[in-house]
Amino acid sequence: MTIYNFSAGPATMPAKVIQQIKADLPSYNNSGMSVMEISHRSALFDKIIDDAAIDLRELLQLPDNYQILFFQGGCTLQFSAAPLNLANKYHRIALLDSGHWAKRAQAEAQLVDVKVDVLASTAEKNYTELPVLKDLPQNKYDYLHITTNNTIEGTAYSKLPETKGTELVGDMSSNFLGQVYDMKKFGLVMAGAQKNLGIAGLTLVIVRNDLIGQVKNLPSMVDYDLFAKKNSMFNTPPVFAIYTAGLVLKWLKEQGGVAEMQRRNLQKSGLLYDFLDNSELFIAPVAKQDRSLTNVPFVTGLPEVDAKLIAQAADNGLVNIKGHRLVGGMRASLYNAMPYEGVEKLVDFLNKFEKDYRG
Ligand code: PLP
Repeated sequence: MTIYNFSAGPATMPAKVIQQIKADLPSYNNSGMSVMEISHRSALFDKIIDDAAIDLRELLQLPDNYQILFFQGGCTLQFSAAPLNLANKYHRIALLDSGHWAKRAQAEAQLVDVKVDVLASTAEKNYTELPVLKDLPQNKYDYLHITTNNTIEGTAYSKLPETKGTELVGDMSSNFLGQVYDMKKFGLVMAGAQKNLGIAGLTLVIVRNDLIGQVKNLPSMVDYDLFAKKNSMFNTPPVFAIYTAGLVLKWLKEQGGVAEMQRRNLQKSGLLYDFLDNSELFIAPVAKQDRSLTNVPFVTGLPEVDAKLIAQAADNGLVNIKGHRLVGGMRASLYNAMPYEGVEKLVDFLNKFEKDYRG
């Protein structure tokens, strides 16, 4: 039975990438060593990390005045690293509260003594829509933090908020490379790799040159300027995760790049949302204009029915559709590596489940 993995992350990977990893495992590039054994100070690894950066720059159409930095510590570490590096003028940032990960970003920034003003929140609507920025006072904030895709709540910005002179910082963890954004609109983007870019253990930071190097004596592992100068190899980088990201990026290029991924993600999510909107059993609670292409939450409102559905789905090879504990119900994550057939299978299954339920 084919297994379709709808996990929110770590997430399903392109089958071709897994095959390549298997093929490379005994001896990478005829070196007689597995990638996990090669030194990060070797020419072999230099090529891996440099190629990954080149491919990523091409895929994102990223201008030369942006750095691509490879970090460990997850996106969570960047919630404090970004304010430590960037919040150096006003020591105050603005934030749009779009859900759990925005709140986490707020809490981590506060832990490093940066003030956080929440300029809009949709908490009272259970985050079923995106907060709208009404007024962003200028010369007050080092940046505005947004979560471009809210993995748990299933909302995503298709249009970025207008920030005028204030820098925009985006947590793009769950729609990085799955949706087209104009990277020049951002001062900084952070994204964990374990959704659309491979495996856990690697976090990407993309940051404009002029924003780094302004704070001295930062702890080394969060110092963007140091990482830029050391080609992300101040210490031992996550070699295997960077190698995997490199393979995913090559696969992405072969598939037609980010615009093609967005087209597919629209198609996949459209199929599922259409079904849910026409169902009498399931509800997709997110406001239509704010719906995510990559994370689709849905509910029946009946916990025992949800539990039965999740178990039956797994028996049919449709795994990890349990919703996040904060919102309950179900969630199907449709990252780049999820094929259209996987979503068709899911919709067929939900359709049949609904018919059986109605008797
Ligand atoms: N931001 C978003 C949008 C996420 O979905 C996640 C994790 O799922 C995080 C941040 C935290 O990332 P990490 O677990 O890599 O620290």
